[in-house]
Amino acid sequence: MVKSLTGFPPQATRRIIIKVGSALLVAPDGSVRREWLESLVGEIAQRRAAGQEIVVVSSGSIALGARRLALPKGGRATLEDAQAAAAVGQIALSQVWADLLASHDIAAAQMLVTLGDLEDRRRYLNASATLDRLIGLGVVPVVNENDSVATEEIRFGDNDRLAARIGQAARADAVVLLSDIDGLYTANPHSDPTAKLIPLIERIDPRILAMADGNSASGMGSGGMISKLQAAQIATGAGAHLAIISGRVEAPLGHWQASGRGSLFRASARRGARKDWLAGRLTVKGKLSVDAGAANALRHGRSLLPAGITGTSGAYARGDVIDIRQAQR
Ligand code: GLU
Repeated sequence: MVKSLTGFPPQATRRIIIKVGSALLVAPDGSVRREWLESLVGEIAQRRAAGQEIVVVSSGSIALGARRLALPKGGRATLEDAQAAAAVGQIALSQVWADLLASHDIAAAQMLVTLGDLEDRRRYLNASATLDRLIGLGVVPVVNENDSVATEEIRFGDNDRLAARIGQAARADAVVLLSDIDGLYTANPHSDPTAKLIPLIERIDPRILAMADGNSASGMGSGGMISKLQAAQIATGAGAHLAIISGRVEAPLGHWQASGRGSLFRASARRGARKDWLAGRLTVKGKLSVDAGAANALRHGRSLLPAGITGTSGAYARGDVIDIRQAQR
């Protein structure tokens, strides 16, 4: 099973999301790593010809824009800098993807989304329908966060979780995070020489979560291993496999297929589209605590009655998503 999934081949995974991190797209001097990107786009073209449907989630707007505007700290010194850099860099980023895909006669589409777009059920369904339509038209959607308008509170901030959410919206079979690291290690491999790569993760339990720290190795993107594990939780919970593999090599998908090196998080069973969407949400409007009887009823799929509620916080209305917890005695 794992062997047949390595490389996410078209016959095992019909629809996949490919997330490309900033450090892979943009060289330290701020220029686009065009040759590497050409090698990836060549792989995308081949896979499409073999029947695989592909959505790209591409970072790099902030890093590219920061160079053009000569901003300090890669454009991440302040939120305003990041937003200005993203607005400038996104044009260049889309242009590169459109040019390279066009050289294989593939049309590219740009989709910029905020966290709020995917947390609101109607907008989420719209994004989902648009992705479907684009894929049906033979287009490769290239998605990024709409960084120039997202505020601190309603930002994904990293494209790892965005890729997982897009995977869910597109009902993808798999999500691959191309990273500057080749997978999940038992400890941070930069500081601990005994750290070992974990090839297969069947369940994301507290032991696995404890292996991550939050730093982005390159200092260019914003996602560290913690955001990658959160992405894995969202994707696998929605029935998609997720892999973290190295993008530090040319033609990274083929390299993964040949070497087998990477970390694969195996998908759990799908719960149904609406429940997946609920579970993948990153924000809630309020919280309820309930007594043991009510908690038990809910676990068995029965309704919540007012008598079982012991406390509430937040401001919410019909249709909003809230957390329900069992009150501790
Ligand atoms: N959306 C950001 C960009 O395009 C990248 C976020 C991340 O580093 O994951 O620059």
